[in-house]
Amino acid sequence: MSSTFLIALGSNRRHVLYGDPRAVVAAAMEECAALGTVSARSPIMASEPMGAAQRRFANAACLIESEYDPAALLAGLKRLEKEFGRRRGQRWGDRVLDLDIILWSEGRYTSGALTVPHREFRNRDFVLKPANAIAGWWRDPITGLCIRHLLARLG
Ligand code: ATP
Ligand code: MG
Ligand code: MG
Repeated sequence: MSSTFLIALGSNRRHVLYGDPRAVVAAAMEECAALGTVSARSPIMASEPMGAAQRRFANAACLIESEYDPAALLAGLKRLEKEFGRRRGQRWGDRVLDLDIILWSEGRYTSGALTVPHREFRNRDFVLKPANAIAGWWRDPITGLCIRHLLARLG
């Protein structure tokens, strides 16, 4: 059975082949097709550095229809991060590519370190803005608020 995932993409480092973070995110959205059918892609947006990060980010969101369950999809996303040259390092630090599972059409999921919905997404405009461009109607199963509403609430 196939289900839908809302994925957040972020980059704030150049890739030796793809180029600047915007190009990295664009390429990564293409590569997501390896994990299912990419049914929507947001525009790529710029956001300011947060946490340990030094440089501006390029962010985007996409929808993936996939046969995988969340744990299998995360494994695929981590493989992609590695293929793009992401090294293990400081959480929230500078990175070539970050791929997070934000929402899943089947609701909540917890297994090991993986939690869906993503724990922090409600507080992040760099996630909610791109997500709103493709899935403003999607309702967070925890708060009952849709993405459009969560974004408006951030102000
Ligand atoms: P944040 O999770 O706050 O956005 P990050 O994306 O920089 O931080 P990572 O270093 O990419 O953090 O991932 C740390 C761990 O978070 C991963 O190994 C993964 O197992 C776990 N994780 C938990 N929930 C999720 C999720 N919904 N999507 C992706 N990774 C998750
Ligand atoms: Mg992240
Ligand atoms: Mg991550």
